[in-house]
Amino acid sequence: MPVLVMKFGGTSVATLDRIRRAAKRVGVEVAKGHDVIVIVSAMAGETNKLVGYVDETSPLYDAREYDAVVSSGENVTAGLMALTLQEMDVPARSWQGWQVPVQTTSAHANARIEAIPTDNITRKFAEGMRVAVVAGFQGVSPEGRITTLGRGGSDTTAVAFAAAFGAVRCDIYTDVDGVYTTDPRICDKARKLDRIAFEEMLELASLGAKVLQTRSVELAMRYNVKLRVLSSFEEMDDAAGTLVVPEEDIVESNVVAGVAHSRDEAKMTLVSVADRPGIAAAIFGPLADAGVTVDMIVQNISEEGRTDMTFSCPVGQVARAEKAMEEAKARGEINFHDIIADTHVAKVSVVGIGMRSAAGVAAQMFRVLAQEGINIQVITTSEIKISVLIERKYMELAVQALHDAFELEKAG
Ligand code: ADP
Ligand code: ASP
Ligand code: MG
Repeated sequence: MPVLVMKFGGTSVATLDRIRRAAKRVGVEVAKGHDVIVIVSAMAGETNKLVGYVDETSPLYDAREYDAVVSSGENVTAGLMALTLQEMDVPARSWQGWQVPVQTTSAHANARIEAIPTDNITRKFAEGMRVAVVAGFQGVSPEGRITTLGRGGSDTTAVAFAAAFGAVRCDIYTDVDGVYTTDPRICDKARKLDRIAFEEMLELASLGAKVLQTRSVELAMRYNVKLRVLSSFEEMDDAAGTLVVPEEDIVESNVVAGVAHSRDEAKMTLVSVADRPGIAAAIFGPLADAGVTVDMIVQNISEEGRTDMTFSCPVGQVARAEKAMEEAKARGEINFHDIIADTHVAKVSVVGIGMRSAAGVAAQMFRVLAQEGINIQVITTSEIKISVLIERKYMELAVQALHDAFELEKAG
């Protein structure tokens, strides 16, 4: 029978009642003749609570134990979803990541899926089971320890299962009815898109639009998974939601497709480092080893052989970054006068494949921010995006002003 993957995010399984509503949707797809793989997240708020416990216990935690703790939220939902389906007379069974097994790298807290053997679940389908409920976000490392895939990782679990099982589609059920031109929670003029190109979705996701985890979009693109984002709160409708599709299937043509924001950024500056060949490697090597995900980088002009090096990273990684830099200094690999961490910045980005051929988007973006009196601290660009780092209190204003200026409320 054709396999369908249905993923339910945290708000869609936040209570027993919502789990029942989600299970009813699954039941409808089973009745239509699908074997269904359901991927579940932890109940809303659970993962944050577990992360909080870990932070409080051990601020520079051992990531293996972080994974042991934070993966547990999904286990509860998987069991409850299987029980709910059984109560509805739908033959269902739950799987934790290690039972499948979802084989991942050993990069704890940020592991990548390497393989998903299909035999266990396929055999169960052949024996008459109709729904495999799989705990999202988790896997098992080559060393046999539990791993997690990074925040929002259940999306990636879902797409990886769709690819492994050759699913007819991967439906991502969430608390909004699709992908919007920007986060509908901070801009009431945000418009729902019927389709979005993989490339644009990939940029929006990596720049902070958390509706899909970046890696899930990467995988869908690579394995040609039919990916749809839709609401678990609305009536069932085969045409609902947003399809993420190859560029050639896009009919709309706004130069800017969307605006993304990332709230919890920090800007760190190493004051007065020696400006010599190898200095960037000496700084960013230890940061990478410490698991700091550096995003924007600026090296200022140097005076008398010394320069300031500025980079951005997630706010939650500032303590790790400082520690890594102090240790590199103690080892004599780098030298700096001071480290300054500004933890009140945010990143706002505009994204669109139309920017490849349209000039002036950057100039317009900077003009709009200037008109709002917003100072730009760091800028980065690529072929299809422009990002700026600004003071966090202006983030919503910047998103709304850019959404207006690029007329995203209108279809192109
Ligand atoms: P889930 O728990 O279902 O995985 P998430 O909270 O991870 O849900 O993702 C859905 C949220 O993503 C929405 O509630 C919305 O606030 C946010 N979001 C950010 N950018 C966008 C966008 N461009 N389109 C839709 N939602 C977005
Ligand atoms: N529960 C995990 C998180 O909150 C994974 C997910 O929901 O996708 O990040
Ligand atoms: Mg999510």
